[in-house]
Amino acid sequence: MARSEWRDTTVHTDVLVVGAGPAGLALTLMLLRSGVRVTLAERSTAFRRDFHGEILQPGGQLVLDQLGVLEGAERRGAHTLEGFQVVQGHRTLLDIDYRRLPAPHDRLLALPQPHLLAELLATCARLPGFTYLDGHRVSALTEDDGRCTGAVVTRLGTRRVRVRASVVVGADGRFSKTRKLAGIDAGRTDVFDQDVVWFTVPAPGRATGRVRIHRAGAAAVLVHDTHPDRLRIGWTLPHGSYNRVTAEGIAGIKRDLAAALPAHADLLHEHLTGLGDLSLLDVFAANAPTWTRDGLVLLGDAAHTHGPLGAQGINLALQDAAVLHPVLVAALAAGDVRRARLVAFEQARRPVAEAVTRMQRVQAKAFFGTGGRAAAFLRARAAAVVTRTPVGARITSRIAYGRTPVQVHTDLFTAGAVPGARAA
Ligand SMILES: Cc1cc2nc3c(=O)[nH]c(=O)nc-3n(C[C@H](O)[C@H](O)[C@H](O)COP(=O)(O)OP(=O)(O)OC[C@H]3O[C@@H](n4cnc5c(N)ncnc54)[C@H](O)[C@@H]3O)c2cc1C
Repeated sequence: MARSEWRDTTVHTDVLVVGAGPAGLALTLMLLRSGVRVTLAERSTAFRRDFHGEILQPGGQLVLDQLGVLEGAERRGAHTLEGFQVVQGHRTLLDIDYRRLPAPHDRLLALPQPHLLAELLATCARLPGFTYLDGHRVSALTEDDGRCTGAVVTRLGTRRVRVRASVVVGADGRFSKTRKLAGIDAGRTDVFDQDVVWFTVPAPGRATGRVRIHRAGAAAVLVHDTHPDRLRIGWTLPHGSYNRVTAEGIAGIKRDLAAALPAHADLLHEHLTGLGDLSLLDVFAANAPTWTRDGLVLLGDAAHTHGPLGAQGINLALQDAAVLHPVLVAALAAGDVRRARLVAFEQARRPVAEAVTRMQRVQAKAFFGTGGRAAAFLRARAAAVVTRTPVGARITSRIAYGRTPVQVHTDLFTAGAVPGARAA
């Protein structure tokens, strides 16, 4: 792996991927395995991303398994979870049991993103053709006659690397700079009207084995096991209410949370010591009006952003990578990276992303709003269907995989998949 130690330098590569999140790293690995040279630019120098979600659906597990990295990522530390539950007081409103799905991916996995990303990066680093520019942000795109021909990435504003690439892939997340530089709108929509307060507490011997959403008045609190022996807690609040909620300081928050999570009140009391233990995250959904330009593609959150509901974002990001991989390999092999070719990726994935947004809208209404009698009726009906009927088994499979499981094109894992790519 070549590391960056340049001032003004030019790098020639086949594909520049911006962003080493799940989407960018998975795509990088697939392309490297197909003999494509990839330069990966990532603004951070460490995978410190405690604020990111980590629940991985079976569809994403399948992609990682086919890439041969699931086991290694899991060995770095993870928790197996049997399913999702929505509870209110002592009542279980909804119980989605993943053990109904076919093995071996008949579970949810709480896999910290640093473990997933470190495993993917280590695997990329063992392959030829890989250049990793960590600590580098994309600052400009280069163009020739309307076609994207690369980007300028900078480190602390002092080092500048001009990356000449056949294709630039924007995998730089929900606030994507690549998308902005390409003049593409984020396409933000109002699916959620919530913020999430996010934190973890030590909980040795207190694993719950599930993702649980505890409904409590206007709020909902998500709880699941996380490595190592901790509980991750996500408290959803109406947008803009954080200042009011924190007006009484940590004592008021402990009181409200303990009322919603009586079984964990002792942990909250012992381990929440100040507002600094909490991170506040803005939750929103978006879908960019286009994901492709000549020589440029957006994927993962950069193309379509989803909230944490139903744990879909990482799943979609990994599946996006698996679908984009053959499209890019074919485009590079043909020497034609115009939008007309790349758009096949967008056509395949946009309906999937839209379906997830629709599903999250229903979930947000059914399980997070106070909503009065109509919402209560909808909740009870949906819960009964999903929990007990064969339709529920199909819905579980849809949440786990999308319409159909996405397979990695391992048949393209050969250095000759793109003739001449390495030699260029
Ligand atoms: C509170 C919350 C909880 C969530 N929980 C879950 C969950 O449990 N399960 C789930 O599946 N999804 C969850 N999600 C969504 C999930 O985190 C994202 O969908 C997923 O991480 C998207 O992956 P990505 O690779 O597209 O983008 P990201 O993971 O955002 O990665 C983008 C990368 O690009 C880098 N980058 C950004 N800007 C630049 C730049 N200018 N130059 C270079 N690099 C740059 C970033 O540092 C980052 O490494 C959650 C989201 C939120 C907000």
